[in-house]
Amino acid sequence: MDHSRADGRATDSTSRGGSAGVPADQATVRRSNLALVLRHVGACGPCTRSAVATATGLNKATVTSLVSELQARGLVKEMGPQHAGSVGRPGVALTLDGSRVGALGMEVNVDYIAAIATDLAGRVIIDRRIGFDAMGSGPERSLDELARMAERTVADLDRLGITPAGITVAVPGLIDTTGTVVVAPNLGWRGVAVAERLSHANIAADIPIAVDNDANLAALAEYTSGVAAGTSDLVYLTGEVGIGGGIIAGGRLLGGADGFAGEVGHVVIDPTGESCRCGRVGCWETKVGLAALVRMATPDRAYGTGPQLVRDPEERLAEIEHRRAEGDPRVDAAAAEVGRWLGIGAAMLVNLFNPRVIVLGGYFARLADLIIPAAQQTLARLGMSDAVERCRFVASDLGFGAASRGAAGVVVERALSDPTSISSRTSPTIGVIEGTPMA
Ligand SMILES: [Zn+2]
Repeated sequence: MDHSRADGRATDSTSRGGSAGVPADQATVRRSNLALVLRHVGACGPCTRSAVATATGLNKATVTSLVSELQARGLVKEMGPQHAGSVGRPGVALTLDGSRVGALGMEVNVDYIAAIATDLAGRVIIDRRIGFDAMGSGPERSLDELARMAERTVADLDRLGITPAGITVAVPGLIDTTGTVVVAPNLGWRGVAVAERLSHANIAADIPIAVDNDANLAALAEYTSGVAAGTSDLVYLTGEVGIGGGIIAGGRLLGGADGFAGEVGHVVIDPTGESCRCGRVGCWETKVGLAALVRMATPDRAYGTGPQLVRDPEERLAEIEHRRAEGDPRVDAAAAEVGRWLGIGAAMLVNLFNPRVIVLGGYFARLADLIIPAAQQTLARLGMSDAVERCRFVASDLGFGAASRGAAGVVVERALSDPTSISSRTSPTIGVIEGTPMA
């Protein structure tokens, strides 16, 4: 998957309205110019067709035609007249149309399934999560539950008149290009065809379905809309039962040869430590994962003890916060120990990637006031250059929804990059759009 941002316009001469007999792929040029206009409206709107033409270098007739097509696809809509503060009659302002096309991001994790639907501007329309034992239920029942949530959410969007441009599912594991989970240690999954199963759900057959790594998606959400948005070198770490990592380097998600980069949770950090669910010993997540925190802070509620009551991570955190409020010293000690091991692992990441910010998501964010000081102190002690002085830990404010938020963001990104992927049938007004005079 290409997460890069397309921001250059097509420079082929045909893009300026001339055709000049170039055997170039006209469809490609038009697609590229549609994306250019759509992005401009998204970033700078409300704006007039005139303003779009000036900013993009496209001629006005071309812009008018492109805007008509974007309207027909339900991507752009007109607002009232906009006075540019200069002479001449006002132009009709354009803005992203959030009423017909949306994006659906979903997540299957160890103890929950989640869905976030947004409009094309990234505004959240639906946000739901259920506690679910994906680890104990096995892939089949988990995917049934995922499909049910997808069906319910798509139906709810449908009632609002919104069609999702796509569905992307976040899974804590390594995913291949067919949307199959190669391995997800914390779910106990191997070779699970998630996209294929979801394609049999009772939703419109033409909604594209993709699957990606949860931490990579969360890193993208942080980069585009989180507390460190726009920081071109950042590392995102998700604190859940598993520890996922997503690395943004030079403004791009680092994928690696197979898209498997960022699997920091299973980097061995203590070879004499405890066994990990992946089969190795002493992985980083055995030190800083939610199970480790729970075991240290609330040993009587540790994962794998007592009746296997499935609990959403929020419930486990609520219990930990409750005990902290009651003055249980084990909570502070456990969080400090997690912070110390976070700092040890982070020192390696800083040496490797030189990030400016390490964003802590999941449960790390909820206990940030306890975890970050210990992590920062350890990092300062172990880092080998001034880079550690300039690198700070920050707590994410996207909560456990970061991955599904990022998943929805990927769908939006794809729609903005290729507006022709959005079917015109979503538009009830196609064919009756009036030619609007240029301002
Ligand atoms: Zn492991």
